[in-house]
Amino acid sequence: MAQPRILIVEDEADIAELLVYKLGREGFDVEVCPRGDTALERARHHPSPDLVLLDLMLPGLDGLELCRHLRREPATASIPIIMLTAKAEEVDRIVGLELGADDYIVKPFSPREVALRVKAVLRRTAGPERAADLIEVGELRLDVAGHRLFVCGEEVMLTATEFRLLERLMASPGRVLTRNTLLADAWGYSSDVDSRTVDTHVRRLRRKLAAEADRIETVIGVGYRLRG
Ligand code: CA
Repeated sequence: MAQPRILIVEDEADIAELLVYKLGREGFDVEVCPRGDTALERARHHPSPDLVLLDLMLPGLDGLELCRHLRREPATASIPIIMLTAKAEEVDRIVGLELGADDYIVKPFSPREVALRVKAVLRRTAGPERAADLIEVGELRLDVAGHRLFVCGEEVMLTATEFRLLERLMASPGRVLTRNTLLADAWGYSSDVDSRTVDTHVRRLRRKLAAEADRIETVIGVGYRLRG
């Protein structure tokens, strides 16, 4: 298989250089765009990148706008995106995840961490479509068609909402899902529903998962992630 192509959108030359060095050594085909607008042009053209590492503060077009454009256009909609964000940009991080970014990394980061995340996201997004009728993660076994959950081989009863919530989490192991994403997917979005409703349901769900409870991780200020 050809080397995966990584497009780094980053205007700080020293950070870009560090990433080029590390990812190049890991066998990726790396390209850098220091501007948001030229990065969008680049991503639209063949061969499109297999993954975009996206800084948020950029000249030309900021990272969130770029993310919005990439997700909106069919040719680029499925390219995985990892945001590179500063600690203070928590709100942007949430907006980015809601716009469809796959993951984020907080600066300052180690190049090694970036390489690991890139590989994890590529693994997750390149895998064959998961069989929709049975999802297994760790000791959790979700029989979607039969609407049944087994934890360590024992059947556990869930409400319809708990089931949909767990199904959504198990469909994207390792990925951070915001409260709003979970509300939209598990409840069908309704502006009347308070996002804290998600917290209440997750708490109940964890109790039912017993030995597997800590598989649902809280991502403070953002949402939840199912440990894969
Ligand atoms: Ca920047």
